[in-house]
Amino acid sequence: MTDSSLYATYARADLKFEKGEGAWLTTQDNRRFLDFAAGIAVNSLGHAHPHLVEALKAQAEKLWHVSNLYDIPGQHQLAERLCAATFADKVFFTNSGAEAVECAVKTARRYHYDCGHPEKSTVLTFSGAFHGRTLGMIAAGGQEKYLEGFGPKAPGFITLTSLDIDLVKQSINEETAAILIEPIQGEGGIREIVPAFLKALRDLCDESDILLILDEVQTGVGRTGHLFAHEEAGIKPDIMAIAKGIGGGFPMGACLATEKVAKAMIPGTHGSTYGGNPLAMAVGNAVLDVVLEDGFLDHVAKMGLVLKQRLAALKDAYPDYIEEIRGRGLLLGLKLSMPPAELINACRAEGLLTVGAGDNVLRLAPPLIIDQEEIDFALRALEHALDKLVAAKQESH
Ligand code: PLP
Repeated sequence: MTDSSLYATYARADLKFEKGEGAWLTTQDNRRFLDFAAGIAVNSLGHAHPHLVEALKAQAEKLWHVSNLYDIPGQHQLAERLCAATFADKVFFTNSGAEAVECAVKTARRYHYDCGHPEKSTVLTFSGAFHGRTLGMIAAGGQEKYLEGFGPKAPGFITLTSLDIDLVKQSINEETAAILIEPIQGEGGIREIVPAFLKALRDLCDESDILLILDEVQTGVGRTGHLFAHEEAGIKPDIMAIAKGIGGGFPMGACLATEKVAKAMIPGTHGSTYGGNPLAMAVGNAVLDVVLEDGFLDHVAKMGLVLKQRLAALKDAYPDYIEEIRGRGLLLGLKLSMPPAELINACRAEGLLTVGAGDNVLRLAPPLIIDQEEIDFALRALEHALDKLVAAKQESH
C-alpha cells in the first residue's frame, strides 16, 4: 500500500507547481523550470496567457454549464471558425483527445451505415500509433502495453505493421470503413509520416470509397508551424480529431468532418454532457484569436527551425547519446541510444522540463510562444545534463 489515495497509474515526479507564466513554471518551494513539455503538448500559449485568463474569467462570472439541451453560442462561433480555417463543414465538441478520435470513428462507421453499408466498420491503423486510453482507443492504438489486462480487445481495428502503401492496399476489403493516422506519431516517438505517404493514403481512400481520419490531437493547432500538420502534405482528411492545443490547458477536444460524412450523425447518435461547455468554448475561441493572428504560425515555424538546428548541433556533439533529431515545428524529438528517463531527470535537475515518448525518444513540445532566449536556456540545460551523464558513465568505468 502506498500512502496516497490516488490510483497508482502514474510515476509522478516529485514537483508541486504553484504557478506558471509564459513558458515558465514555479514550484511551491520557489524553484523555476522552463516548460518544454507544456503539459504534453497542451499549453500552446504557455501558462497564464493574459488573453486566455481574461476569457476564462469573463465566462466564469457569467455561466459555466448548461448542457447540450440548449444552444451554446460559443460552440457555433468556434465551430464556424474551425470550419473556415480547415477542410471541415461540421464540428462535434468533446472533453478530451480520446473522445474526439472515438467520435471520428463513430462518424466514419455511421457514414457507411447511412450509405447502406453497415458492414464497412473496420478501421486500419498503424503500429506505434496512440489514440487515447478508452477501451475503443486502446484497440485503435493496438499497443499491447496499453491493452494488457483489460479484457477482450474491442473489435474493428486492424493495426498495420509498417507504413507500406502496398500493405495498406492489400489490407482494404469490403469491411474497411476508414484509415486512421497521426501525421506525426507523438507518443510513438515523434515518428513523422512523410507527405507522400499521406497523399498516397488520400488517393487510396478516394479509390476505395473509404474515409481518411487524421488524429491531430497532438500535431494540431499550430504545433508544427502550420495550423494543422496535414496541410504540409497538401491533402484534406474526411474527418479530423483535435484536442490538447485548442484548449491551451482547458480540457477540450473536437471532431471535425465534411458535410458529406457528418450528415449521418443525426439527433441522438452521439452526445456528451460537458462537450462544448461555455467555459471550454470561451477558452477555445481565445486560443484561436491568438493562433490565427498574423505572424503567429511563422513564429512557431521559425522557432522550430532554430530549435531543430541547435539540436542537430547537440547531436553532433554527443553522438553516443543522440542518434537522430525528429519532428517538425515545435514538436521535436531526440532519438536516444537509451531510454530517455535518465536524461529527462538530468534535464529537470538543470531546470528544464521535457517528456518521454516511445522508441527511446526525449520529446520537446514547448509552448508555441517561446523565444530565442528560452531556446538558449533549454540548449544549455540539455548540454549540462548530457555532460553529467557522460561524467557519470566515465566514473562507473
Ligand atoms: N491522440 C493522440 C495523437 C494523442 O497524442 C493523445 C494523447 O496524448 C490522444 C489521442 C488522447 O488524448 P487524451 O489524453 O486527451 O484523451
